[in-house]
Formats: sequence, structure tokens, C-alpha cells
Amino acid sequence: MRLSTKLVVVTLGLVIIPLVLLTASLFLLRVYRPRSLRLGYGQEDTNIMNINVIRRFDSLMSQLDQQMLDTPAEKLLDPAVLSLMNESFRKDGAYLLGYTETCYFNGDSSDSNEDVLYYIADPDAFADRDKLYFAGLSHPYLIGCRRFAAASGPASLYLVCDVSGSLPSVTRLIFLIGISVLALVGGSIVMLGWLRLKFARPMKELQEAARSIAEGNLDYELVPESDDEFGELMGTFEEMRRRLKSSAEEQLRYEQDSKLLLGNISHDLKTPITAIKGYVEGIRDGVASSPEKQAKYLATIYNKADDMDKLVDQLAFYSLVDTNRMPYHFVKIPVRAYFDDCRDELTTELEAQEFDLIYDNSVPEETKMIGDPEQLHRVISNIVSNSVKYRSRNRRGQIGLRIRQEEERLLIELSDNGIGIEKKDLEHIFDRFYRSDTSRSAATGGNGIGLSIVKKIVEDHGGRIWAESRPGEGTKLTMELRTYEEKNHEQNTDR
Ligand code: ADP
Repeated sequence: MRLSTKLVVVTLGLVIIPLVLLTASLFLLRVYRPRSLRLGYGQEDTNIMNINVIRRFDSLMSQLDQQMLDTPAEKLLDPAVLSLMNESFRKDGAYLLGYTETCYFNGDSSDSNEDVLYYIADPDAFADRDKLYFAGLSHPYLIGCRRFAAASGPASLYLVCDVSGSLPSVTRLIFLIGISVLALVGGSIVMLGWLRLKFARPMKELQEAARSIAEGNLDYELVPESDDEFGELMGTFEEMRRRLKSSAEEQLRYEQDSKLLLGNISHDLKTPITAIKGYVEGIRDGVASSPEKQAKYLATIYNKADDMDKLVDQLAFYSLVDTNRMPYHFVKIPVRAYFDDCRDELTTELEAQEFDLIYDNSVPEETKMIGDPEQLHRVISNIVSNSVKYRSRNRRGQIGLRIRQEEERLLIELSDNGIGIEKKDLEHIFDRFYRSDTSRSAATGGNGIGLSIVKKIVEDHGGRIWAESRPGEGTKLTMELRTYEEKNHEQNTDR
């Protein structure tokens, strides 16, 4: 059964069950309640319900009996005495009538009881009972009769109680119940509408969203409209959709990156291979006729093969980085000595490229760090090789390597006076396969993975890296790493 059908069934149940119970009670009321009126007061009108009125009237009659016992019969003929007695009944909505042959006392303050007086005057009225129900012209009454014997002859006292306000008729009750039923049904319809709004609608929206996700549309946005459980569920669902979307996008990006890489690799391999083939043909066909020319051709072939070798190495390494399988060998590194060695190596390399190296290492002798010397070396040489690749043709190349310590932070800055990086490219240079337009057009042979590897290695060392650059002036990359506090560490491990 669908949720909306269930809601209808529940709501109908809520209306129908009380209705059935109400009808049963009405039936019982109609059949049984008038019995006491009929038996005690001879009232045949089954449209009248007695509720508690009869009990109340009986108790007033007992009160009258008691007062008559306490009062000598002669005094009961005295209107002043009756007036006093009448007072006690008035507050209960009843009054006394005193009769000998005529009415000698009328306790009704409004004197509007002519029909009662007329009725009582009939000697047969109380012939076979001492209390009765009188429908009256405009009001229904319960009338009780007490006879007493005075010296002057027989007399009667009547207790009259107007029950129009307290004897509700069945018709009136049915009318009231009809209104209640209408209110119940109307209320249920409103309730059903509300339930549909609160339950069925959000459920439908969720269902719609789930269906569109199942069909592959991850853009179907759910906006939680309430802060109840449905709102929370929608919020969680929306969070799930966003995550799914971002992971699908990530997957797509990865696939595009892979395709791009494949394209780049083919291109980057094709260029040196074409060159090698050209030079080999040159030697084979005798274009390189002199031994010097042949040696030059061979040197170029060697360099191209070397470029390819490096590219393949870098790709193999990239695949390790990409799959988090990089084998690190972390050791304690004396920072100052390590970078001094780097300087020595770089100086020779850079001299061949006609670059000057400006070296500044202010780190204290004893400072150490934990790292993989080989991978850190890879980081430095990647950055330096970029500085060489993106050198400015207008001036002699200059590379600065500055290492300083700020408390527990090690700051390694590598700067150059190369072509610089445009602002729009700067935030992407650490992304995989990202190459700026200038680097593409410069045909530098870059594949856009060098700096992504650099970033990964620095982060795996618990550090971070960022770049600053001014197009046309140069670029500075800064790495921040942690120093290793030997003392503290040993104390910690002692504990
Ligand atoms: P690539 O193999 O293309 O050099 P990298 O990941 O090493 O890839 O660098 C990404 C991009 O960042 C490069 O294509 C280049 O545009 C830019 N870049 C990196 N270093 C420098 C630098 N020192 N000067 C100018 N541009 C640089």
C-alpha cells in the first residue's frame, strides 16, 4: 500500500471509528435514557433526554417533604411562610404553588405560568401519580404534588421546575452531533491535506531526486524546506548527491587527465623519436659525411634518447605518486650540510647552462630534519630544471637558493629571474598536467607533472609549498618543512 493511501486509510479510520462509537452511544441514549422519565413521570415523549434533571428534581421534592414535616399544616397556608420556603427553591430554578380550591400562593416571580396553573387546576392531573412531566405551552416542566390536610380542608403544594434549559432534546443533540461530525470530517480533510503536505510531498521529492540520481542526473538539487526529520533527511540526501557529483567529476577529470597525459606522452616521445630517426638516416645516407658531423649527429641522438629516458623515468615515478606507492626512506638529515652538498652539485650543473647560483644558508649547524634525501633532491632538481626551462632570453639566468630557520619552521626558497608566471596560471601550476600557455608555446617539452610530484613529496614530508611570481621578472617557490627536535623527541620516547 502506498504511503498516501495509508494516510487516507488512517485519517478515515480516525473519522469513522469515533462516528461508529458516537452512533452507538446515541442509540443507547435514545432507547434507555428516556425510560426513567417515562416510568417516574409518565412522559412518553422519547425526544426528551433526562440527563441528571430527574435526580435533581427528586432531591428538591425530598427537600419539600422535609420542610412540610417540619412545618405545621396551618402554617403551610400562610403565604409568608410559603414565600420563605419558596426562596430556597428559587435558587434551584423551581418554585412553589399553593392550592386549596384556588391558588393561594404563586411562587413564580414572573407570573408567566398560566398554562401550569391551568393544568394543575385539573383534578385528574395528579390522580394516579404525584409527579409528572408537563410539556407546557412554551416551556417543559417537572411538577411534583404534595397534598396536606388543613383545618379548613384539603390543600396541595406543587413544586414546579422549568426544565427547558436542562432537558436537551434528541433532535437538538443530533443537530449538535451533526455539526460535530461535520467539524470532524472537515478537520480530517484539513488534517489529511496537512499530512500530505508534510509527508507525501517531501517523500515524492525524495523519490524524484533518487530516481534522477539513478538515471545519472547528479544536478537534481533538493532544497530542505523544513527543519523536521524530513528536512534532515533531505539535507543528508543533498550532501550525498553533492559528494557523488564531486566524485563523478573527479573521476571525469581523472579520465580526461589520463587522456591528456597519453596525448602528451605520445607527443613528447614522438618528437625525439622523429629527430633520432632523422639523424640516423642522415648518417646512413651519408649526409653526415665528415667524422665531426657524424660525432655531432651521434651526440644529438644521445641527447634525444636521454630526454626520452628522463621522460619515461618521470612517468614511472608519477605512476608511483599517483597510486600512493612511493617508497620513502626517511632518515635524519643535517639540514645545513645537506643543502651545502646540493649547492655544490647545482653549481656545476648550472654553470654548464650559463646560470649563476646565489646561495644563502643561515640554518644552524645542528638543525636536523626528517626526510628522504633522494626525494628532496628530486624536488630541488625539478624546481631548478623549471627555472632553466623557463629562463628569460634577455638576461643571464640567475637562481637563488635560500634556506633559513624560524623556530621549528624550515623555509627553503628557490627563486629565478625567468619569464615568470601569469596570475591566472599561478594557482594551477601544482595541478597535475597543468601547463601554462607560455610553456606550451615555448615548446619546452614540459608535461605538467613536475610540480604536482614536487607538491606531493613536500606534503608527504608534512610540509607545504607555494609560489609567487611576477611575469617578466621571475618566480619564487617556497617550501616549508619542520625541523626535528632531537632532545624533545628522545625525552618523549624515554617516557
Ligand atoms: P612542466 O613539465 O610543464 O614544466 P611543471 O609541473 O613542472 O610542468 O610546471 C607546470 C607549469 O608551471 C609549467 O608548464 C610552467 O608554465 C609553469 N612553471 C613552473 N615553474 C616555472 C618557472 N620557474 N618559471 C615560469 N613558469 C614556470
